[in-house]
This record gives sequence, structure tokens and C-alpha cells, in this order.
Amino acid sequence: MARRSFVAGNWKMNKTPAEARALALELRQRLAGSAKCDVAVCPTYLCIAAVAEALRGSRIAVGAQNLYWMKSGAYTGEVSGPMLVAAGCQYTIIGHSERRQYFAETDETVNKRLLAALDAKLQIICCVGETKDERLGNVTEQVVKRQLEGALAGLKAEQLAALTLAYEPVWAIGTGLTATPQQAQEVHAFIRGLVRAKFGAAVAEALRIQYGGSVKADNAKDLLSRPDIDGALVGGASLVAGDFEAIVKAAK
Ligand code: PEP
Repeated sequence: MARRSFVAGNWKMNKTPAEARALALELRQRLAGSAKCDVAVCPTYLCIAAVAEALRGSRIAVGAQNLYWMKSGAYTGEVSGPMLVAAGCQYTIIGHSERRQYFAETDETVNKRLLAALDAKLQIICCVGETKDERLGNVTEQVVKRQLEGALAGLKAEQLAALTLAYEPVWAIGTGLTATPQQAQEVHAFIRGLVRAKFGAAVAEALRIQYGGSVKADNAKDLLSRPDIDGALVGGASLVAGDFEAIVKAAK
């Protein structure tokens, strides 16, 4: 079974609600014709409602950048899965390296968020990836394996239908350095092999694995043509409508 490509934009901490709405409307118009792959954008919590409204009935889905694992209560500053769904989200990113690096996210908290997202019936983009020192120390596979096993602890095979993995080498995020298509393909194949060993061949073949890390209009086609690269998680270039459009159109 061929996997359908999936390109998602992570808008990070950018855009006011009015600016986010304007970008969403422009993307809606630019991407109206082509439906070869799935597309989502992930604005800040504050902009989710405005973007969901602007994209209602379009081919572009809306995602959050994180969620908290409790449903409601005295957790100042947090947002839960059911709240995201009510605001118009179909997806959430979990375990982005910026969350791990700046907000003390661990494999255990990634797992708690992932289980909460499943409970809320959200689809998930779960990020893994090594730092520059880890790559230079030849421990990329060890790191990715640990992150993956941590994130997916306690999941049943059928729950992986709601999951997309994103391989995002930390050294390539926002740096302009991109993993070569060969480097990315190698790690994607490794990840698929881990999923195959734990959850079986059918689950592994159906699982989408995005690449993320300085994906741009001019390198997307080469990356996305590799057999185990099923789309992209795009940061910086997703804030420019024409660039994101070009990346979506480069997807197989
Ligand atoms: C990201 O933050 O997920 C990302 C891949 O960022 P960038 O495309 O800017 O490297």
C-alpha cells in the first residue's frame, strides 16, 4: 500500500491571530487545486480558532504544537487535548526538539502527551532526532531508538494509525543545514525497521515518517523522493505562503 505524503507547517511562536488568518487564507487559495498529499498547519494556541475558521472546508487541516496530558483543572498556562479538538484541531505535534531543549520535555512526558492526544482522538506528529554532538559521536541510532521507545511505550499496534513520526535532526532545525537525502533516508529506514520489529510489518509499512530540518522549496523534491520519506515537517519556510506551496507541490 502506497503511503500518502503529509506536509505540515510548524508556525512556532509567530503571527498574531490576524496575521495567522491572513496566511491561512493565502494558503487556502494557493493550495486549492492540488490534492496529492495531506497538508496541515500548526499555529500557536492563540491562533488556532482563527486559522480553523479560515480553513474550514479546505484541504488544509489544523494542528497544535503541543498539549498537556490532563483534561482540565489547576494547570496554569496549559491546554488539553479536548480543548484543542473543540477549537478545531485535528492534529498535534508532540516532542518537538525545542520543547525538549527549552521546556524540559522528556521521553516520559512525550509519552504522557501522546497517550492524552490519542485519548482526545487527535492525530499526532511525534518528533525524534539527534543533536549535532550525538551525530558526531555516532549515536544517532541509539538516541532515536531511545526516543521512539519512550514515546511509544504502552501503545497498541492499532493506535499507530493516528501517528506520524517526524525525524528532525536537531542540528538541521532552523540552521539552514539539511540532512542529505541519503542521511535522512538511512534514519527513516532505521525508524521504520524499529516500528516493524515492535508492531509488525503492516503497521510499519503504513506509518508515515516526515523529515524536518531546513526543508525549503529548493531541497524538498530530492528529500521527498526517497522511499522512506513520506513528507515534511516545515518550520521557517512554512511562514512564507509561496515557499510552503512549493514544498507541498514537491511531495510525491
Ligand atoms: C521544525 O521546527 O520542525 C523545523 C523543521 O524547522 P525548520 O524548517 O525551520 O528547520
